[in-house]
Amino acid sequence: MASGSAIQIPSRLPLLLTHEGVLLPGSTMRTSVDSPRNMQLVRSRLLKGTSLRSTIIGVIPNTSDPTSDCDDLPSLHRIGTAALAVQVVGSNWPKPHYTLLVTGLCRFQILQLLKEKPYPVAEVEQLDRLEQFTNQHKSEEELGELSEQFYKYAVQLVEMLDMSVPAVAKLRRLLDNLPREVLPDILTSIIRTSNQEKLQILDAVRLEERFKMTIPLLVRQIEGLKLLQKTRKPKQDDDKRVVAIRPARRINHIPSATEDEEEEEDHDDVVMLEKKIRTSSMSEQALKVCLKEIKRLKKMPQSMPEYALTRNYLELMVELPWNKSTKDRLEIRAARILLDNDHYAMEKLKKRVLEYLAVRQLKNNLKGPILCFVGPPGVGKTSVGRSIAKTLGREFHRIALGGVCDQSDIRGHRRTYVGSMPGRIINGLKTVGVNNPVFLLDEVDKLGKSLQGDPAAALLEVLDPEQNHSFTDHYLNVAFDLSQVLFIATANTTATIPPALLDRMEIIQVPGYTQEEKIEIAHRHLIPKQLEQHGLTPQQIQIPQVTTLDIITRYTREAGVRSLDRKLGAICRAVAVKVAEGQHKETKPDRAEVAEGEDCKEHITEDAKTESISDTADLALPPEMPILIDFHALKDILGPPMYEMEVSERLSQPGVAIGLAWTPLGGEIMFVEASRMDGEGQLTLTGQLGDVMKESAHLAISWLRSNAKRYQLTNASGSFDLLDNTDIHLHFPAGAVTKDGPSAGVTIVTCLASLFSGRLVCSDVAMTGEITLRGLVLPVGGIKDKVLAAHRAGLKRIIIPQRNEKDLEEIAMNVRQDLTFVMASCLDEVLNAAFDGGFSVKHIVERLNSKL
Ligand code: ADP
Repeated sequence: MASGSAIQIPSRLPLLLTHEGVLLPGSTMRTSVDSPRNMQLVRSRLLKGTSLRSTIIGVIPNTSDPTSDCDDLPSLHRIGTAALAVQVVGSNWPKPHYTLLVTGLCRFQILQLLKEKPYPVAEVEQLDRLEQFTNQHKSEEELGELSEQFYKYAVQLVEMLDMSVPAVAKLRRLLDNLPREVLPDILTSIIRTSNQEKLQILDAVRLEERFKMTIPLLVRQIEGLKLLQKTRKPKQDDDKRVVAIRPARRINHIPSATEDEEEEEDHDDVVMLEKKIRTSSMSEQALKVCLKEIKRLKKMPQSMPEYALTRNYLELMVELPWNKSTKDRLEIRAARILLDNDHYAMEKLKKRVLEYLAVRQLKNNLKGPILCFVGPPGVGKTSVGRSIAKTLGREFHRIALGGVCDQSDIRGHRRTYVGSMPGRIINGLKTVGVNNPVFLLDEVDKLGKSLQGDPAAALLEVLDPEQNHSFTDHYLNVAFDLSQVLFIATANTTATIPPALLDRMEIIQVPGYTQEEKIEIAHRHLIPKQLEQHGLTPQQIQIPQVTTLDIITRYTREAGVRSLDRKLGAICRAVAVKVAEGQHKETKPDRAEVAEGEDCKEHITEDAKTESISDTADLALPPEMPILIDFHALKDILGPPMYEMEVSERLSQPGVAIGLAWTPLGGEIMFVEASRMDGEGQLTLTGQLGDVMKESAHLAISWLRSNAKRYQLTNASGSFDLLDNTDIHLHFPAGAVTKDGPSAGVTIVTCLASLFSGRLVCSDVAMTGEITLRGLVLPVGGIKDKVLAAHRAGLKRIIIPQRNEKDLEEIAMNVRQDLTFVMASCLDEVLNAAFDGGFSVKHIVERLNSKL
């Protein structure tokens, strides 16, 4: 029966022997495989084969294959079904076996068995045609009436089923569309038939015979259904309802109504998604990938985990702002006003930002350096970034990088990874919805490194203008153009920024504020902001400048203004309570008493309570007198001052000197203490010191030992050998903080000189500078922050290296006026300035003597 135009099955087929179920052409069957021959066939043919041909096997029904390998092959059924193995699933439990999903293609007949082991292979002859159903009309004519009769029964049977079940409707459509000759096989496998009957149909090679045999089976099914309907008649309505509500499956493999509806709904969603993809303005490459994915999605059952993943991916791709941007409205004059309005002081930073913006206005190109603001916390780095976005009219997004130690945080996880998601850059773009936002990369100095790769390396690609137009996030797996994004970075220190990253950025130092600047910032920006946040008006609360200064000096010790802001917030909260309670009238005049005694306070509260109850109408009115925050109120609200001027107290004995240190949090003053005791000339250093600092200590001792005679420095027993029978202990307080750097050199020398000479260091002097063995003083960094810290602490004289003189220009005039600077180029000058009346008296006397 094989015709020339038909698709041919191979002439040699491996045979799968089944003993359960009969596979008919056009139907699909799941069969379990565990006998040795069949297992061999699956292993060496299906699992190893690579071509489509190798997945075609012959299924011989009703033959059980003996379990033992050595037994002879049983007699085989003559006719079988060539089948396509669609799926193979292996399992080891309870015993090794495979489950095969096979779809019948056509009948074949065994001509000759070619081999039996390891699995049977036979030469076969194809019996049915396998073609593109072109001869439909011909076959209809040939079979004429028989086929017509069969068709009528088939339609009658299908119509007896519930047509509201979509699968039944589908079957009805199939009846019209499929060629008649394949229908007997398909219907036989659907209706209730025994294996024996199926076998008969399989053996009916002639089509006419097949029709003839199937008709009685159909009639039997129809009669059966009629009988069933009769017995159920009264309940029919209920039954239908149940069908509609609960998915009851009428026929095997026919999905229930609700399932299908859901599927349909979902299909609508997928169609919508496809439409969105096509109308979105994504790049060509992305569009190609998306269309491929949506094609896969359409074929995927919804229950597959990959379905949700693919959908999420496609939804993200649609949402990304491939081509959406805001229009820049940049006007330098307006930008200057805006920056000035938002921020007080920070002139250098504002100047550089304006330059940057001006260049952008003239040349509409982003290929400039990436600005990186470096400074202590709370000096306004983030808020300047926000202002830049505002002046440009762009969206602003902050990406916190502190503690990020996995490069997939930046670049995303591949989609094969469980729980994969895009990196922060792509996520940020999705959030802002435009492709030209201002991204603030916060805390780049706190990037970590781990086994999961180096996030700094991933950032390099993001920040490089030459590369970032085709940034490929692992999750997206297609390039996204980041060239329109304006990146700004912030850091507390440059020391921990990876050098390659540092190289891509232009560092702008943002130093801490002076007390005067802080007062201005507080009154211009922080207080109005806090008042607004707490629903207060300037008529209700008054914070004079002396109070602000008190907060700055006695309640905070910081380079920025963050804790100042918090303290002001605390004051506003306290005042808000008073205003809300209507207590302001009473507390104000009695303020002095409040601070005086606990009893008194209670008394006032009692009074206030009765007053507030009797005079509730007053609550809505603004208070006549604003609540004045004076020193007593401050103490009431914030508690006793946290920082006292302790400088003079600490310098009441020899062996203490004040140094200036720089930390990522700003400048600090540091007390260096030394003591000596009987011992064997050992030096002990405490206070978590780094290697460089330890070396400075050794340098200082060596220099003092070599100059002991000149300065008349002696140990306890009067010897010029300072370490003879003497141990020295040097301590740098705040032992919990690691300290390193060479700038404590001069302080250590001064401290030890004080110890060995028994003289007190001036209590208003602070110093910084690196030393050499020859006694020279070398320049150090962070002068501005250090000077501000000294000024904050109320010190008056500051000794700095001569070569740092130029750094003083950056310091505000009013601070400079308050302080006396001593420029030292050698240790003699340092010691002279640190001790009242100078230090090198002996030296002069010696020189005079030698003249005599
Ligand atoms: P950073 O990012 O440097 O740690 P922020 O930008 O978060 O600091 O600033 C903390 C707060 O201080 C913000 O509310 C900011 O508005 C305010 N601030 C800091 N500096 C200034 C300034 N020069 N003028 C006005 N407000 C400032």
